[in-house]
Formats: sequence, structure tokens, C-alpha cells
Amino acid sequence: MDYAVLKKNFENHRFHTSYFETTEEAAAYLSDQIKGEKVGFGGSITAKEMNLFEILGKNNEVIWHWEQGPDARIKAKDSTVYILSANAAAATGQIINIDGTGNRLSESLFGPKRVYYVIGKNKIAPDLSSAMDRARNIACPKNAARFNKKTPCVVSDDKKCYDCNSPERICNAILILERPCTGMEVEMVFINEDLGY
Ligand code: SF4
Repeated sequence: MDYAVLKKNFENHRFHTSYFETTEEAAAYLSDQIKGEKVGFGGSITAKEMNLFEILGKNNEVIWHWEQGPDARIKAKDSTVYILSANAAAATGQIINIDGTGNRLSESLFGPKRVYYVIGKNKIAPDLSSAMDRARNIACPKNAARFNKKTPCVVSDDKKCYDCNSPERICNAILILERPCTGMEVEMVFINEDLGY
């Protein structure tokens, strides 16, 4: 991970950035930054691997449908801080996320004023085209498999995206975030470890 390049390109796009060698350091930083808030979480293996729900729960009200059931998605609309990851981040300064339900995308666009993306080094692609390829052909097939879907990306030998029309399709919306939306403070928390899909 070349943080100098990521910092230059993402900050040029009005994102804040930070960098940590380990998940523990990143989690300690977030715990220090976020206190007395209502913290909503998007579905994120990275956040789960970092134990952020437990860590941030010590000093905040935490809201996560993975821990509290589907209705927590609605409750998360009242959060003051939102935590999520990305299916891919282009080193040129864009974030790509693909969503089925849309809660994660909507909160990242018109949700709490403070949003943190936690991004392991495996999520970084050199440019927008390769980031899109990563999101479609690596992240989404793995997520579909995690949900035990019988989509072409799961049952095929190559585990690639077939842009399917399956009723079990998990990819209903694709977002390329090029700049934080107006009024939002968005920070990219880069971590020099492989995290999530
Ligand atoms: S569009 Fe269908 S085949 Fe492609 S990744 Fe999503 S669920 Fe899999």
C-alpha cells in the first residue's frame, strides 16, 4: 500500500485520510475519535474482523443489523457516525460499493455527517477500471457465497460475475463515490493488512 499516493489522491478529492499498520492501531484511533455518538454500521466483514462493534460500543450507542436484526437498518438512519468498508478503492481517489438492500449506500451518501471507510490493503486497486473489476468479480462473488446464494458467480467454476438476473442477485446498485457529498465529512482509514473481501 503506497499511502503517499492514496493520501495525495483522496485528499485531492476532499476525503480525509489516515493510515495504520495494524487493525489494532486503527481500532484504537477510531475509538479515540468517536465518543458519545450513535454509530451505525454497514454490512462489513472488515468492521467485524476489527471488532469495531464491541470496541466502539464501549463509549457509544452502536447500531448494526448484523448484530441486532434487520430493523437496525432503519434505526441506523438516526446515527451520527457511520462505519463501512468498500468493495474496492481506486488509488486514483474513488470508492466503489455494490449493494443489494441499499442501506449502506444511502447512509454513505445522505446519512450522518461523519463517515469512516475502513479499508484493508487488499481492497486497493490501481485505477477506477481495475477497482470496478475487483468489486464485481472478487468482492461480490465472495459476498454472494457468504450469503449462500446460488447465483452464477457462486456456482460457476470461475467464480466471476455473470451480471445475472437471478432472483438471488445481491448486486442491485453500484456507487462510485468520487467526492464526499455536500455537507459530509468522509475519512478513509487505510490499514496495511488484508481485511474483508
Ligand atoms: S450480478 Fe449476479 S453473478 Fe454478478 S456478482 Fe452479483 S450476484 Fe453474482
